[in-house]
Amino acid sequence: MSLEKNLVDAIGKNIKDASNEEIYGGLLRVVQNMAAAKETKEGKKKVYYISAEFLIGKLLSNNMINLGIYDEVRQLLAANGKDICEIEEVENEPSLGNGGLGRLAACFLDSIATLGINGDGIGLNYHLGLFKQVFDKNLQNETPNPWINNQSWLIDTDKHYQVKFKDHTVTSRLYTLNVTGYDNQTNHLQLFDLDSVDESIVSDGIDFDKDDIEKNLTLFLYPDDSDEKGQLLRIYQQYFMVSNGAQLILDECIAKGSNLHDLYDYAVIQINDTHPTMVIPELIRLLMERGISMDEAIEIVSKTCAYTNHTILAEALEKWPISYLEKVVPHLLPIIEVLDNKVRRKFKNNDAVTIIDDDNRVHMAHIDIHYGFSINGVAALHTEILKNSELNHFYQIYPEKFNNKTNGITFRRWLLHCNPELAGYITELIGDGYKKDATKLKDLEKFMNDDAVLDRLWEIKQNNKKAVCNYLRDTQGLELNPDTIFDIQVKRLHEYKRQQMNILYVISKYLEIKAGKIPQQPVTVIFGAKAAPAYIIAKDIIHTILCMQQIIENDPQVSPYLKVVMVENYNVTLAEKLIPACDISEQISLASKEASGTGNMKFMLNGAVTLGTMDGANVEIAELVGEDNIFIFGRTSDDIIERYAKADYVSKDYYNNDPEIKAAVDFIVGDEMMAVGSKEHLERLYNELLNKDWFMTLIDFADYKEKREAVYAAYADKKAWSKMALKNIANAGFFSSDRTIEEYNRDIWKVEK
Ligand SMILES: *Cc1c(COP(=O)(O)O)cnc(C)c1O
Repeated sequence: MSLEKNLVDAIGKNIKDASNEEIYGGLLRVVQNMAAAKETKEGKKKVYYISAEFLIGKLLSNNMINLGIYDEVRQLLAANGKDICEIEEVENEPSLGNGGLGRLAACFLDSIATLGINGDGIGLNYHLGLFKQVFDKNLQNETPNPWINNQSWLIDTDKHYQVKFKDHTVTSRLYTLNVTGYDNQTNHLQLFDLDSVDESIVSDGIDFDKDDIEKNLTLFLYPDDSDEKGQLLRIYQQYFMVSNGAQLILDECIAKGSNLHDLYDYAVIQINDTHPTMVIPELIRLLMERGISMDEAIEIVSKTCAYTNHTILAEALEKWPISYLEKVVPHLLPIIEVLDNKVRRKFKNNDAVTIIDDDNRVHMAHIDIHYGFSINGVAALHTEILKNSELNHFYQIYPEKFNNKTNGITFRRWLLHCNPELAGYITELIGDGYKKDATKLKDLEKFMNDDAVLDRLWEIKQNNKKAVCNYLRDTQGLELNPDTIFDIQVKRLHEYKRQQMNILYVISKYLEIKAGKIPQQPVTVIFGAKAAPAYIIAKDIIHTILCMQQIIENDPQVSPYLKVVMVENYNVTLAEKLIPACDISEQISLASKEASGTGNMKFMLNGAVTLGTMDGANVEIAELVGEDNIFIFGRTSDDIIERYAKADYVSKDYYNNDPEIKAAVDFIVGDEMMAVGSKEHLERLYNELLNKDWFMTLIDFADYKEKREAVYAAYADKKAWSKMALKNIANAGFFSSDRTIEEYNRDIWKVEK
């Protein structure tokens, strides 16, 4: 049957006469049927990627691209007077992750299916997502982000498990999402939900009764964990996820013929950061329930689980107090104690590697490292830091377990879907082999001196800038000028990512313009970022950015040359619009602190030039494009690690010795800011920068400012700029998540295709 006939049948009327919502619903049904027809033929071994987050983005267009029907559908709709972009707008973006870690998990699922690997994701079905960011009085407010409606991609499997907590047992309900591979099979994302979840208990903003586990468990991702109740809820969620996941895995393996003594021949479990760590003691418990001895159960599980570390930030390495675990999952504690005892017996007097510390806290990462067979970092520099400093005690005892897997992104979403004009032009130039083998992008280097190609790249970028201007005008009421440099920093708001350094630059530039120094190139600085609800300084930084936006907006002397905007509720959908329109990609984390970054890769692939520190995957970007095609500044990670060890950084010294820094920092609490902002927030950020500045904003500021001026100057030479852009695109192939997943499978999972 033709696609058109299928679609008309699914809608129940002619396309012409259907509303956008009806067409969306029809396409959803057509795509779901096509995806189901490509279900994986299950082989013996399967990978289970367990993650508290999957930031998957909207699914309609991505699925249509992967199923090979996107162009046909677009034309079919156009022939009936319908615009595919408007149909895309009907879909709600699933809100199942908060940033890079969750987005990585989503890219990985796409690549696992695309490469034909037998593998599913396992996670939770948060009804109200992380939160929706709303700006009011230049402040971030949080509201629920409901995304599930009657036109949802979720398939109710009607499969249930019982999950036992200390005081009660709850029933789960399993939903599944089809994960379509590009021109390949369909895998699944298994999302567990609480059967008795109740959205109506959410009252003011994102507040709800944290004690009511039988109603609240799958309402939000990362409920505020600044207090004990929030932390307990996190533990409830984590255990709920892994207990369901472990039961599902055992069921599937038994169905395929495993006698459980050989579990590792049937399953490999990739633990994405420490959130799913309890899957290790839970699997041991379940194997013991099925008659396997504890020692053997521990050995089986240790051969089944592998761990990915995503950060060296101390606050992110989870350590749960034993007393909390006792309140939620007392049945896991005897197992965790045995795991700890074994470690203590084997590594006497090595306090750094115990699982339970002297303060009676359980170090989740230590469970993963001792009782998993692989530990990987997510970029070359990050893995070296793990081996040589952060996890050195472990590297000494298990050198063979450590390996690197530099992150990647799926080019289906981050090029073919988000930048069709560029993807089409690349196909014209080098054919479409790059869609399956991203290293072929390298062939673009043939055109480095071809003026027509360079002009066309510039034109495509301009078109994308105009498109995002229209989109932001229509959806957020922002007025941007596409004939300015687009200098973009979009990512979670965190002090280590140093949005505060970017806004200090903006302040400094503002002061220069006020003093009569007119820049050669008008610039639009774009921010997008959510701050964790309880992260006070992060919210103060957002406040400062929004105040600055207002001040410049209302200053006719400055606004023709400098504009700053913060887009509201940054998410995958906005990323897909902003990244293709970017000239300068801000990747300015304090060296050693950004494990990898994946935003940096998306920007590079779409022809932006990076302004960044030698941190995370920026190091590998710099190696690939060469130092002439990236703007690097700032202290090295070795410097920074040494400064932390010596604890001799004093931000006030930089403030006192550099008049530009002083002027910019003082401006935060000056009259102009106080007139539009809140004293409490502005003073707190000012004091933080002056007296603490844990992520060393001021240490790199002078260098940053100089390099940023150099980037703007470089932009004036259109040809040279487009050449840099081309060099970046041509060398982005390494960052395809297909490459990353090939490596995971070769070195860790060993699943036969
Ligand atoms: C890629 C992505 C991120 C990660 O960005 P980083 O710059 O690597 O921190 C976060 N949020 C969204 C919506 C993304 O698409």
